[in-house]
Amino acid sequence: MINSKYIERLLEGPAESDAEKLSPVLDEAKGLKGLSLEQAALLLKTEDPALLARIHACAERVKQRVFGNRIVLFAPLYLSNYCVNSCLYCGFKSGNKELPRRALTKDEAVAEARTLVAMGFKRVLLVAGEDKRYGTDYIAGIVRAIYKETGMRIIHVNAAPMDIKELSELKAAGVGVYQVFQETYHRPTYEKMHPGGPKKDYDYRINVMERAAEAGFEDLGIGTLLGLYDYRFDVLSTIAHSRSLFKRYGMHAHTISIPRLRPASGTTGDAEALNAHSVSDSELKKITAIYRLSVPTAGVVVTTREPEELRRELLHAGASQLSAASRTSPGGYGSTRPEQSETGSPEGGKDAGTLEQFSTNDQRSVTEVMATIIKEGGLPSLCTTCYRTGRVGAHFTELSSRGEMHKFCQANALLSLKEYTIDNPPNGNAELFNDALNKTFDSIKDKEIKDSVTQKLKALEKGKKDLYL
Ligand code: SAM
Ligand code: SF4
Repeated sequence: MINSKYIERLLEGPAESDAEKLSPVLDEAKGLKGLSLEQAALLLKTEDPALLARIHACAERVKQRVFGNRIVLFAPLYLSNYCVNSCLYCGFKSGNKELPRRALTKDEAVAEARTLVAMGFKRVLLVAGEDKRYGTDYIAGIVRAIYKETGMRIIHVNAAPMDIKELSELKAAGVGVYQVFQETYHRPTYEKMHPGGPKKDYDYRINVMERAAEAGFEDLGIGTLLGLYDYRFDVLSTIAHSRSLFKRYGMHAHTISIPRLRPASGTTGDAEALNAHSVSDSELKKITAIYRLSVPTAGVVVTTREPEELRRELLHAGASQLSAASRTSPGGYGSTRPEQSETGSPEGGKDAGTLEQFSTNDQRSVTEVMATIIKEGGLPSLCTTCYRTGRVGAHFTELSSRGEMHKFCQANALLSLKEYTIDNPPNGNAELFNDALNKTFDSIKDKEIKDSVTQKLKALEKGKKDLYL
């Protein structure tokens, strides 16, 4: 799947600064067919600020053609920070004795999901450390309970790689996207970063997307933890990974995340290894743009690991999904008190704030994040229609690569934002939100779609929920 020697060869040589070589690559990218690894390597080797600005602008244009101006919002929900692995970079690693441990009970997870629904979220990403006691049955049970007992509309999962039977169980529970990051595709670095626990097994991890596809998942999320190794190698490998999924199953990665290393408790002893390949803000912008150009249909996901200003800039470099108001600890949304946990009070007895995986960098509320998106010309979307109407997998890749998702997404994003403003009036920003809703409505050209949206907007005002095309 990943031909390391070939990727290394593509990255050899000096930085690229030849505008004449770049132009045909960008022209081709505008056709939404993605880029070859050779073309992506050329962009990755570019460091000239003027050329980088052209790459960002092209990525923003491609993003607009595939998804319009909508930016999808979601929140992570951390279920458990118990973990048997010893990833050097992560606060949840088993050897981190400073970290109080906690696993939410089903009721606590439901309470956290309810809090997120009250904040306006419709999609949630469940996150867990690796521990058989809190494995597939635990996660699948929570998925079912959240669907049954809250208004959460789609649940994605980021948890340890599983076998096909376990993945089928998750799929049957109704999970949308199954997400696992390879962390680094560079095997020697992978081995150094993962000295103990089942995660040591590079091959079991890299093959998990194939197993997930065999288990029936059509939306797969991949990524590399930026900062562990040379980002250029890992980015090209991630693109190669997505291309291999496309070759085999007709679907590219549904999402590509761009997590960048953050400080985490218990990791200072490994600071030297963890600081050897740090990725700058400018490099992160380039990476975002290259993912967009190379895999135009993928949701490029930016989390609250990144600060407000950079998140704003990434909106203009091809990013299409943002998390907001995130907490990275079990119980972090504060709907449950640690001492109410069935699994006992967190070991160490500290409060939830200290249970986090890594520290976040953007503490703004959902409305504040949405307001920034609107000011930047974007349309915040809480839409979950694709997953619920079967526009997934190969069908999604095909529709979106023809630029045909746009008209549905725009209308559905509008409806989801309208519902948000009814449930969570954006006090102080009402005019901004109303303008965005009106402008989006005016931009709908298709008469049938416009009539349907008009009716649905009226129905939302009368108290109906969850309306989409
Ligand atoms: N335990 C599962 C695993 O490792 O695949 C899934 C959950 S883990 C909490 C989710 C992701 O967080 C990891 O895949 C890793 O990329 C990221 N992560 C871990 N430590 C981090 C850190 N210090 N800064 C930023 N991201 C981190
Ligand atoms: Fe555990 Fe995942 Fe953290 Fe590694 S990254 S220590 S597997 S939670």
